[in-house]
Amino acid sequence: MRTRSFIQLASKFKAVFLDSYGVLKNHHGVILGASDTIDQLRDQGILIRVLTNDASRGPARQMEAFHRIGLRNIKEEEIITSGMMAKHYLLSKKPKGLIAYLGTEDAASEIINAGLKTIHIREVNDDNIDTIGALVYLDDEGFDWNRDINRSLNLLRRRNVAAIVANSDQIYPVSRTEVSIATGGIAKLVEATLGRDFIHFGKPDSQMFMHAFEQLNEETRIEKSKILMVGDTLHTDILGGNKFGLKTALVLSGNTRADKVKVNIRSTGIIPDYLCESIAT
Ligand SMILES: [Mg+2]
Repeated sequence: MRTRSFIQLASKFKAVFLDSYGVLKNHHGVILGASDTIDQLRDQGILIRVLTNDASRGPARQMEAFHRIGLRNIKEEEIITSGMMAKHYLLSKKPKGLIAYLGTEDAASEIINAGLKTIHIREVNDDNIDTIGALVYLDDEGFDWNRDINRSLNLLRRRNVAAIVANSDQIYPVSRTEVSIATGGIAKLVEATLGRDFIHFGKPDSQMFMHAFEQLNEETRIEKSKILMVGDTLHTDILGGNKFGLKTALVLSGNTRADKVKVNIRSTGIIPDYLCESIAT
């Protein structure tokens, strides 16, 4: 599969869904040329949505972070996070009792601001464990990995409550050569230990794609065949886009390296429709 110019490719579509990390930004900051590409898409009237599995902060804070690194042309209403999907789920299910969470207070602010009553996992104890109605794995920071992961495990052993994973990513890159365990990886450890599956939000699951698709179609009628999903990760962005029926473009500016891409595609069986060096090309 040969790489092609992203701008030329995108101009065939009415809307572009962009992953954030590895597509718009990386551990250095903004991906060079990404801002110009966004401007060019806008000039052509192509609609944009950013679909991110980052549940550590809501759309307003994501937008601020984009602005800080120089991506000033992304709007809050264009950002869809997996944390938003977890919030919508909790708002519609209305679990009885407090929602215990693993993560920072910042990550929890989305669900707190929505009026849901929360408790940090570190505060869950014998006295209040019966008042817990659900558990959310929100972020990989903001708690003690040993004590609090075990607390979450024991909560789920004692109480039959829903466990929700707001970001299913198992790892995230922290430098060119190293990764850290992400929220999905922590949840997977507990899922494997308990022998049960939690409720997962984020790509490749369809909720974010559906949310973005419905939001666009409130503005103007756009068929799935006119939307391009762009991502750097085969098993989230590309698998999710393919399953939802969108055309998919894998970029080589993040998780998937140019020298490994053929092997990765063959071994996973997840096949993008297109391959681009980055969105800046
Ligand atoms: Mg990514």
